[in-house]
Amino acid sequence: MSSLILQIALPSPLRRLFDYRAGPGLSADQLLPGMRVRVPFGQRQLVGLIVSSSSTSVVPASKLRSISELIDLSPVLPKSLWLLCIWTAQYYQHSLGDTLSCALPNLLAQGEAALARQDMLWQLLPAAYPEHPALRRAQKQKEAVRILAQHPHGLSHALLSQWGLARDTLEALERKQLVQRITQSPHHQREPLPLLREPHLQANAEQQAALQAIAAGKGFTAWLLQGITGSGKTEVYLQSIEHCLRDGRQALILVPEIGLTPQTVERFRRRFNVPLAVLHSGLNDRERLDAWLAAREGEAALVIGTRSAIFTPLARPGLLIVDEEHDLSYKQQEGLRYNARDLAVYRAHLEQIPVILGSATPSLESLHNVERGRYQLLRLSERAGNARPPQFQCIDIRSQPLQDGLSRPLLQAIGSHLKHGNQVLVFINRRGFAPTLMCHDCGWIADCRRCDARMTLHQQPAHLHCHHCDSQRPIDRQCPKCQSSDLRPIGAGTERTEDSLQQQFPGYPVLRIDRDSTARKDAMQQLLARVHSGAPCLLVGTQMLAKGHHFPDVTLVAILDADGGLFSADFRGPERMAQMITQVAGRAGRADKPGQVLIQTHMAEHPLLQDLCGPGYPAIAASELALRHSAGLPPCRYAALLRAEANLAQTAEDFLQLAADLALKYQLPVEILGPVPAAMERRAGRYRAQLLLLAEQRATLHSLLTPWLQQLELLPAARKVRWSIDVDPLDM
Ligand code: ADP
Ligand code: ZN
Ligand code: ZN
Repeated sequence: MSSLILQIALPSPLRRLFDYRAGPGLSADQLLPGMRVRVPFGQRQLVGLIVSSSSTSVVPASKLRSISELIDLSPVLPKSLWLLCIWTAQYYQHSLGDTLSCALPNLLAQGEAALARQDMLWQLLPAAYPEHPALRRAQKQKEAVRILAQHPHGLSHALLSQWGLARDTLEALERKQLVQRITQSPHHQREPLPLLREPHLQANAEQQAALQAIAAGKGFTAWLLQGITGSGKTEVYLQSIEHCLRDGRQALILVPEIGLTPQTVERFRRRFNVPLAVLHSGLNDRERLDAWLAAREGEAALVIGTRSAIFTPLARPGLLIVDEEHDLSYKQQEGLRYNARDLAVYRAHLEQIPVILGSATPSLESLHNVERGRYQLLRLSERAGNARPPQFQCIDIRSQPLQDGLSRPLLQAIGSHLKHGNQVLVFINRRGFAPTLMCHDCGWIADCRRCDARMTLHQQPAHLHCHHCDSQRPIDRQCPKCQSSDLRPIGAGTERTEDSLQQQFPGYPVLRIDRDSTARKDAMQQLLARVHSGAPCLLVGTQMLAKGHHFPDVTLVAILDADGGLFSADFRGPERMAQMITQVAGRAGRADKPGQVLIQTHMAEHPLLQDLCGPGYPAIAASELALRHSAGLPPCRYAALLRAEANLAQTAEDFLQLAADLALKYQLPVEILGPVPAAMERRAGRYRAQLLLLAEQRATLHSLLTPWLQQLELLPAARKVRWSIDVDPLDM
């Protein structure tokens, strides 16, 4: 029996590796880190990855089981990606096995061969012939050799199975070195085409300066490209990519939500004559694996994807780009809580290549990194071409009559822009008809029964909907408390605003863009096509409208309610609000028509709104960052959040209190705040609480987290709650 012991990462939440015997016939040099194996685990078989090997184990020999199968002949991930996964698991304090199964395409995590299915063929090696001594007692293998001998160019699995030959048989022959796998790539019919499909634009002076700086950099540099909306950041990406492709390297581009910005993908396709892999949530498992493989084999020169695409291996990495780097969708909010932007920076460092983080409204995290000299700042301060930035103005709505949330000066402005043949965008970050349903006689409010939240009233179709736990119920006809039938919708969401605008401006189409109106496949495309036809219309929508769109005919952007962000309990509220308004406003004045932005507010003299109407986002970011410094809040200190939820509030708090007591024993300079109930304590019927850890040094925080979490895993109290750790949390 082999004495070689393998340490395997398995898809389990436990932060540890599992020991297995290598099994007979496998030697240490055949078993490399990053190869997949199938192993028995309880009654099941799991796919895991080899991390290391040794000759001893703390597991008693009688309990040690052998692996069932070695799946790969070489590691599935290139070295740099393997290191990235190990770092990710350590940094986010997540199990390595879970991290790897999150990083790998589903089919690979399930044990599928790491070869594109249709493209993989079995071919006989010259040494093989049916009477070969190695085949003496192997009838099936002999048969396979006989058939393959008649197909010198190889046979696919599908065809071999028609002769009743299974994968096992061919793999046995492979181990005897009588057959080999060959691949036929669909990308192989590549004719030499010119790299550019359309000429690049003539870069303006600022773009030129940015491009030269990036091109002059050697190895790793993190660039923060801060360019106002419409300043031509994408053109800087495109020309940097061109440079990278001419070098024979690949570029990986992360975008927030690809379904929302088909225009972005289109711009890359239009520019280059190269194979492009797009990784988005609409792909099925097979398509995802094929795209992943095309990137790993170097066939796809350009890879574009959302958050998880950061784990796509590249054969010849040359450049990483994170567009709209401030976007919250880069942070995964469950399971492995990674931030793809931060991983992109670490990955670029591992690969020794440049990374460009682009945004009109950079996160305070990235600006802080500029301040500390970790990122290099590149600025684009003017709009490209003839476009002019929009003019901002507040409308003070104190004691003004409002019609469904719309003030008279705003209605007048809308009417005038429409009359001039332009389009108007009305932004309200609340979907549904009204955020509250209230009894006019006794003040009863329709609450969610499972959350500390109100039900949102929807009219299309009519129902009450909780936006936190997704529960739904019919609209009450009578007040359950006083039986009055005078129940009234309070406040306005997108549906009500749509209705109201339709009544006010009957001659113009009103297009609503929110999660509900775009749920149907292609609905978004159809709505966008109508906007791009250029005819005057009203667009009403949520933050879905803020992301990356080009609306050249929109000349007025109306922000219906800016006050919410000013009162937010979250210390990131002002940053988020300034980003959102700046991004939505950036949709106006894109072409040669000047744009106007009107913000309705009860607090027109608030410094944040004053800054938005004056110097704009950079001034707001600078003053917010100064506040974070003085308050010792992220990004000026490093944070981790331990969350727990349970059926009873006390259970969750008890666990966190125990955790806090244990953390104190380490006597490290880490501030421990809480436990406190979460901002919405009850959600989907469970009570949630949290413990916040803050430290001046990242290393200090991690030196606490690693041993502390291992300790928590073993606590009996940990089994009574659902708990998780969030390193660099975004909601807290
Ligand atoms: P951003 O990504 O910064 O919002 P874009 O890259 O989308 O800006 O550019 C905005 C518009 O300006 C696009 O229509 C683009 O084609 C145009 N543009 C960008 N750079 C130039 C340039 N150097 N000369 C002329 N037009 C440009
Ligand atoms: Zn009532
Ligand atoms: Zn709910």
